[in-house]
Amino acid sequence: MGRGVRGSWQSRLAMQPLPEVLSRAVIPAGVRSVLERLLAAGHEAWLVGGGVRDLLRGGHPKDWDVATDALPEQVVKLFRRVVPTGIAHGTVTVLVPGGHVEVTTFRAESAYVDGRRPGSVAFHRDLVADLARRDFTINALAFDPVGGRFRDPFGGQEDLARRRVRCVGVAAERFGEDGLRPLRAVRFATVLEFELDPETEAAIPGALPVFDKVALERRREELVKLLLAPGVARGVDLLRRTGLLDRILPELDEALDTIRNARVSRASPVLEVRLAALLVGVARPEGALDRLRLPAKVVETVGALLAHPLPPEASTWSDAELRRWLVRLGPERWEVARALAEATGVDPDGALGQRIAGIVAARPPLSAKDLALDGAAIMQTLGVGPSPAVGEATRFLLDRVLDRPDLNTPEQLRELLRTRPA
Ligand code: ATP
Ligand code: MG
Repeated sequence: MGRGVRGSWQSRLAMQPLPEVLSRAVIPAGVRSVLERLLAAGHEAWLVGGGVRDLLRGGHPKDWDVATDALPEQVVKLFRRVVPTGIAHGTVTVLVPGGHVEVTTFRAESAYVDGRRPGSVAFHRDLVADLARRDFTINALAFDPVGGRFRDPFGGQEDLARRRVRCVGVAAERFGEDGLRPLRAVRFATVLEFELDPETEAAIPGALPVFDKVALERRREELVKLLLAPGVARGVDLLRRTGLLDRILPELDEALDTIRNARVSRASPVLEVRLAALLVGVARPEGALDRLRLPAKVVETVGALLAHPLPPEASTWSDAELRRWLVRLGPERWEVARALAEATGVDPDGALGQRIAGIVAARPPLSAKDLALDGAAIMQTLGVGPSPAVGEATRFLLDRVLDRPDLNTPEQLRELLRTRPA
């Protein structure tokens, strides 16, 4: 491995001073109890990964990862409430009051056969070997809050201070092992608002063929985190610059990058809105959405937003026209459509969105189930049984109340049916 991993294992294991911010860190009682129990049983137990990174930055970690030399079956025996999440890969989820902790046995991955998944997993006695297989120096830190110990064998603390994402070891090799890492590098640079270390960035183009082999599902989480970051525009720029964007969304025309990025960063940080802002103008967005492997509901919403955006002239529409648009869009999607209109500049001052909010608040009838007459009442008024005539009458009534919601009373709807032109 390269400069990041130079020096003997021994020196890397040497005690490092505990950073002040870690000595003050508040560790949830449940997390601490997991560490204490492992230590009491004579094992090593360290907080590792993103949690330590976030603590060092003065933040509050969302998840807690523990690395230990205890084997998975030993971990399972030590705790009452466990889920054998990925036991083959050494991960056991320990349930604690108010959350859970992922406990993973020290491991070192040997040859990644195809750039997708480690070919085999070797459990290890050694914390440094475990840290060495991690992707970036800022993610290769370990903290033992019980013993007040800290390990940073690859200069992660310095990279945090210099705000850069740098691979542990030789970037080209690490990207060759797992093609997801280039995308993770850009994701961390975006979310943390860090730079990519030059060697790390320079290794991305050469890793693109390996990236292509990564399961689409594995990319999803990284992309979602990137898209929801405040610095999303810079993130999309980094994806473009490194060649990743062409592999992920080849349908995005480079000539439109500037306009698109401005639109995406104006979009509120809601996945559906950000995705729609990204895909505005793409001829067949279905293919792109399918490739992102998002939940069906997200895909449907984004599809509807793109199929029925508020057009520039919408501010001149009547209330009835806006209600008809709500029906086409799906009324439950009005808030995301409003957010998209703000991002695309159709509703720069939010006035149109306010009008729509007023219309929705009045709860006008927008579908057959909102009509003051149900199917049975319509059949009774018409003097017919179930037949196509009922559907026709329903559509007729809905059409009338979309223009005039005040007509939606049983008496007035009956009157409309009686006087309906043939
Ligand atoms: P976040 O705060 O977004 O969850 P994280 O650093 O916790 O960030 P995870 O994806 O949850 O990231 O992974 C947890 C840790 O596992 C990472 O910090 C890193 O040490 C290691 N890791 C995860 N994915 C990889 C990978 N593809 N290659 C090497 N190490 C990885
Ligand atoms: Mg995490």
